[in-house]
Amino acid sequence: MTKSAPLFNRLALIGIGLIGSSIARAARGQGVVREIVATARSAATRRRVAELGIADQVAETNAAAAAGADLVIVCVPVGACGEVAKEIGAHLKAGAVISDVGSVKGAVLRDMAPHLPSGVHFVPAHPVAGTENSGPDAGFATLFVGRWCILTPPDGADAAAVERLASFWRALGANVETMPAAHHDLVLAVTSHLPHLIAYTIVGTADELSEVTRSEVLKFSAGGFRDFTRIAASDPTMWRDVFLANKDAVLEMLGTFNEDLSQLTRAIRRGDGEALYAHFQRTRAIRRGIVQIGQDSPAPDFGRPHPELPIGPLPRPYAASGDE
Ligand code: NAP
Repeated sequence: MTKSAPLFNRLALIGIGLIGSSIARAARGQGVVREIVATARSAATRRRVAELGIADQVAETNAAAAAGADLVIVCVPVGACGEVAKEIGAHLKAGAVISDVGSVKGAVLRDMAPHLPSGVHFVPAHPVAGTENSGPDAGFATLFVGRWCILTPPDGADAAAVERLASFWRALGANVETMPAAHHDLVLAVTSHLPHLIAYTIVGTADELSEVTRSEVLKFSAGGFRDFTRIAASDPTMWRDVFLANKDAVLEMLGTFNEDLSQLTRAIRRGDGEALYAHFQRTRAIRRGIVQIGQDSPAPDFGRPHPELPIGPLPRPYAASGDE
């Protein structure tokens, strides 16, 4: 597969941590933009990005980064998206595509849209890919390969702009799906937000036990706990914002989860082995289904691409399109 022809002239990344820096590395690796301008909130991160050389220019302000860009991707925590839109709104180029990567879509749409001028195309997006690490050093070019990127264009969005953004994500190796923001938030509440909440809870619970020492928890962590600790190490700011921004959907899923947990609690209390077995058999089939559709490997801790993998032409199953 040859590299893609540039889809956009100038890409501006507002916020360049794990996700922004992975986009920068992948976009450059695949040649999908001619130029990358990046910025971050702190001078320390901006300096680090300049040292890493992952952007062509590092701008001092969000407004300066966005000015003249054909594609602007806001890669900051969900709670900061509205404020960023307010800062860049007046500086956007007519015809530019404005997007984001936030893990919640309804709140981002609500907070950003009022600050964006007519004449730009706002297409929110969420690459469903990540790790528990943060900052520009944590990113890697293959993060999105074989993962889904969900676009949630508002009603009346320009179809050509949506397709251009979809092509951008496909060129980075992602599969693209489009759905309404509210549906995205419900789906992600159960597939991502609730699991993170459970991991944060269980790791906290284990830490507070008095009869089991912390060293025992660490020593015997391979019994299931270890997998939770990886998720529970995820960025506190990002996840605080996710739960505040997706409150309704998370509470709805949490209600269902609590009912199911009560049922399993009752089965254990009553010694109802049949109920427990039937439940575990059903969940094992779900896990096998995930492996079958290629969203994870059967090997433990093996599902994510390795940061050290060289970027270049993407492997065939992840080719940007079928007609390269
Ligand atoms: P991160 O590594 O912590 O990076 C966040 C970046 O945003 C940093 O460069 C930070 O600058 C910058 N920033 C924060 N507030 C800003 C502001 N007001 N103006 C300009 N820059 C600002 O976070 P991340 O993991 O890349 O997450 C970014 C977004 O991606 C979040 O919305 C998250 O929901 C979404 N997402 C994350 C994952 C994941 O697994 N991590 C997966 C999918 C989507 P400083 O370094 O100077 O503070």
